Formats: sequence, structure tokens, C-alpha cells
Amino acid sequence: MKHVLQLLLLLAITSVTSVSMAQKQPNIIVILSDDHAYQAISAYGSRLTQTPNIDRIAREGAIFRNAFVNNSLCAPSRATLLTGKYSHSNGLTINDFSQPFNVKQQLFTRILREHNYQTAWIGKWHLQSLPDGFDYWQLLPDQGRYYNPDFITMNKDTVQHTGYVTNIITDITFDWLNRRDTSKPFCVIVGEKATHREWSPDLQDLGAFDHVKFPEPHDFRDDYKGRKAAADQDMSIAKTMQFTYDLKLHINYKKDHPYKKMNAAQQEKFSAYYSQAVDKDFDAHHYTGDSLVSWKYQRYMKDYLSTAKSLDRNIGRILHYLDSTGLSRNTIVIYMSDQGFYLGEHGWFDKRFMYEESLRTPFVMRYPGVIKPGTKVDALVANVDVAPTLLQAAGIAAPADMQGASLLPVVKGKPAPAAWRKAVYYHYYEFGTHHVYPHFGVRTDRYKLIRFYGPIDSWEFYDLKKDPHEMHNSYSDKANSSVISELQRELVKEVTRLKDTSAAGVLRLTL
Ligand code: CA
Repeated sequence: MKHVLQLLLLLAITSVTSVSMAQKQPNIIVILSDDHAYQAISAYGSRLTQTPNIDRIAREGAIFRNAFVNNSLCAPSRATLLTGKYSHSNGLTINDFSQPFNVKQQLFTRILREHNYQTAWIGKWHLQSLPDGFDYWQLLPDQGRYYNPDFITMNKDTVQHTGYVTNIITDITFDWLNRRDTSKPFCVIVGEKATHREWSPDLQDLGAFDHVKFPEPHDFRDDYKGRKAAADQDMSIAKTMQFTYDLKLHINYKKDHPYKKMNAAQQEKFSAYYSQAVDKDFDAHHYTGDSLVSWKYQRYMKDYLSTAKSLDRNIGRILHYLDSTGLSRNTIVIYMSDQGFYLGEHGWFDKRFMYEESLRTPFVMRYPGVIKPGTKVDALVANVDVAPTLLQAAGIAAPADMQGASLLPVVKGKPAPAAWRKAVYYHYYEFGTHHVYPHFGVRTDRYKLIRFYGPIDSWEFYDLKKDPHEMHNSYSDKANSSVISELQRELVKEVTRLKDTSAAGVLRLTL
């Protein structure tokens, strides 16, 4: 009898211990949007719009005010998020999939799964190869569509969902969460399509900004003096933005991609709005020259911000789901974009450049009991840090070859530890669409040094305190020579530490 009691006691202790261990591992939701600019988020002081639900995550957790990406492009950003490695180390440097992403390599989601987690990726994935090491996935093929999107399922069928993509992705997420094994913690990445080009809003948000005239950024008509790469790009609102595909002018709903995929009821509402707001206005005014560029900017902002309204609303639905199911208190919620985006700064849309608007990414994180509400972090952080952060939160040591660092030490609301990085390293490789020359560089809390290579060979230097909009390349200014030398040493240090052989070749370094 005594032995039986001892055994029962032992079983009870073991059971309590395993329950408390499991509870210590937080659930994780990463909401990863696409091309959502910090300039369009009120927590970042947006002058353009309100984002109450993203702001709520920032208010109840931390806002990272110096969050960057290591390569400002869709697929490489996702690869870095998953691997905790820079593009040259995880093998995915560009959006061209002649060499598909190797999903069999080390991914933080697989490591979580090996440590008791259930894992899922839902929505935009954009890595060509199908996922590996997840309990569940349902993906948009490539970029996916805003209306009636196809999804690839785990048995490799394609299913079409009727409706608007951001709502559908949330619904699929809830469906999986409702069916999950509740004895285990979960990690789900919600891969949003919004706010990627072509910025088609949900029907209920059409016209949401019609009453607003947006102020043009003061560098909207940049002449790119002293910046050859900026001058040679093909991503301007003036020249690159397309009238039908982007601006929805005179859409032929029978022929024009992607609008031909809408159903009759959707087309009727879409057409009722755009035929008045765009076609009629454009036909009546015959905009040309500067007035045409201004008109395009106003339309771009209206579509972009209306599309973002659904994104924020659906983030609100996810937060409400966590509240109503009692999951909020033990769930980490991260909201971030895969990179920043130009909302007319330098006259542009798109991303790619190491200039501020595309180098930065919005990044807010709620972690009840660990991150104090209202925390503001100014340390230099990057998307390469997400994987090691989430592994540490789950009580798992990050593998030594992960190149990012856990953010948990810097979210305590204190100054960054002395050992924290002094510069963020960046490397953009793709030279094709939008004609942005490859470049790499470092950004410190005040300065930025960029080396363009390939078809051109040039350096750029900016003092962000004196020139926050990066209008004056002051690399040749002798007054900056000692700061530039210091940054060049930092650059060499980073290229060497990270073993970026292609950058080393440009710098004629032997690694
Ligand atoms: Ca993107």
C-alpha cells in the first residue's frame, strides 16, 4: 500500500511538472504582412491613417523603433525569418526561383516542432518549394490573389475560396486553431497578402479615404542628384506605376488580370466604385505632367490604405480570438512586415533599396508577463533576430549557426546591453525587375554606408541626423572621412563575421 501511495505521489508530481513545463512554453502567432510600410501605422506616428489593432499590440507589448530587414524583398525576407540566417547563408538571395529555397535546412519552426510545438503556416509563403516540418499549412500559390484566391493544401490540391483574401486567411487560421491538439503549445505564422501590389481593397473598404487629400512627401519630386542607383531605378509612381493593373483605370473585367477572377457580384461593386472614382475623374480632367503624377499618388494612397484597413481589422479579429479563448495571456503575438515600402518618398513605390523606408520594417511584439506594456525599444534589431528570439522564448537554445540574436534581453525596457550590435548589415542582390543595382552596407544609429556594385561601382554615405531623407550623398565630403573609415571597418567586420563571400569579392577581401 505504501509503495502504491509513493507511486501515485510520484505520478502526480510528474504530471504537475509536465503541465507546468508545457505552460511555460508560450504559444506563438507571427502575423507577417507584405509590403506594409511603417509610415502607414499610427503606432509609428503615421500622418496618413489609423491602425488601432496594430497599435494595441504595441501598447500592450513592445514597439521596435529601429527594426530593419537584411534584404528588402519578399522571398528572401521569409527565408531569413524561418532560418535566422542572412540570405547568403540560407541560399535564398533573390525572388527568382531558378534555385528553389531549400526547405530541408534548419528552420526555427521545425525545431519548435521537435520540442513539443504544433506548427502551421497559413497564407502567403512565396518560397516556391512546399513547406517541410510543419503540422499544417495552406498556402497562396506565389503572390496569390486578393479576390477568390486559390490555396495549395497539404495533399497538394488547389482549392479556391470565395471572398477577400485577408478575411479568408484569418478564417483558415481560426479553423486550424480550433482543431489543434490543445495539450501542446502552438506556433502559427499568418502570411498576409496585404498590402502587396496591386492594392485591391475589400469591398467594404472601397472609398474609405475618398475624403482625404494626402500630403505629398517633401522628397516626392526627388531629382536623385549624386545618387546614380536612385536615378536609374524603375519603380517610380511617375513612370512605372501602371494605369490599369495598379490604378484600376478602365478595367476590362473580362480580360484584365487579376480583376477577371472576381465574380459578378464583386465586379459589380468594384466597378461601381472605380468607374466613378477613377474613370470618370480621369476622363474629365485629362491630367498630364505634374498633375498626372499627383493624381496617381492620391489614387495609390487611397488603394494602399484601404487595403491596409482590412489587414488591421483582421489583426483585431485575431486578438479578439485570443481574448475570447483565454489564450492571450500565454501567447506571444508578433506583427511585422516582410520589409518596408515607399509611399511616394523619392517619388517611389516598391522596396529593395537600403534607404530608410524599405530598410525598416514595422515590428511590434506582445508577450504578457515578459514584455512590460508600453515598452519602446531603440536598439538596432533585424528580421534575422526573430527565429532565435522565439526559440529562447520556448526555452530552446538557438543553434550556433543562427546568425541573429535573441531580442528577449533587449525588450526589458532598459538600454540595449553593451554587447548589442552597433550596426545592422544589409545585402540586396537582385538586379532585374525595377532595375535596382545590387548593394550592401551597414547602418548604425546615426550613419549609413552603402556600396553599389555590378553594373555600377559606387559608394554612398548619409548622416541620418543631418539628412534623414537621404537626399545628399556625402561620401566625397572630406569632413566625413573619419566616420566613413570607421563605417568601412564595421562593414569589413560584418562581411568577414558573416562570411558573405560575394560582398568580400566586391571589397577584394580574402575570407
Ligand atoms: Ca514584400
